[in-house]
Amino acid sequence: MKVFDLHCGQGHIFEGWFGSEADYRDQQQRGLLQCPLCGDGTIAKGLSAPRLNLGAAAPQSAKTAEIPTPVATLPDSAPEKLRAMQAAWLQLSRQLARSSEDVGTRFAEQALAMHRGEQEEKSIRGQATPEQARELVEEGVPILPLALPKGSGETLQ
Ligand SMILES: [Zn+2]
Repeated sequence: MKVFDLHCGQGHIFEGWFGSEADYRDQQQRGLLQCPLCGDGTIAKGLSAPRLNLGAAAPQSAKTAEIPTPVATLPDSAPEKLRAMQAAWLQLSRQLARSSEDVGTRFAEQALAMHRGEQEEKSIRGQATPEQARELVEEGVPILPLALPKGSGETLQ
């Protein structure tokens, strides 16, 4: 399994999981790849904006890293049901983002406090490192990786 950093024509960055490099090239050439955020079909692999330091708001600290979200690309043969599920998940991501409070890097801390009953339950979103995410899952806190552009909010409709 290979994981590539991909980006669309609109500058969204996401991960794509493929069986091999050839598998990626094949899907890309056949136009099967789509941005999970905006549906743009202009997908390219390579250095992402933050790595090139072009993204002004790119966090330098690992604390603000978002949970890496695996993005599955669906082949032509994928059942209609699976496609519908993917679309529903993206829809849900946007909905959750609109109806939740952005607590940024305090996400793990707050999620844990709510889980332990130290704080009132509410809908929150933010960033968590993979370590924090693992800790939350181990504590039994239900978390959901969201498919959102960096610095979400402004770009949401
Ligand atoms: Zn996009």
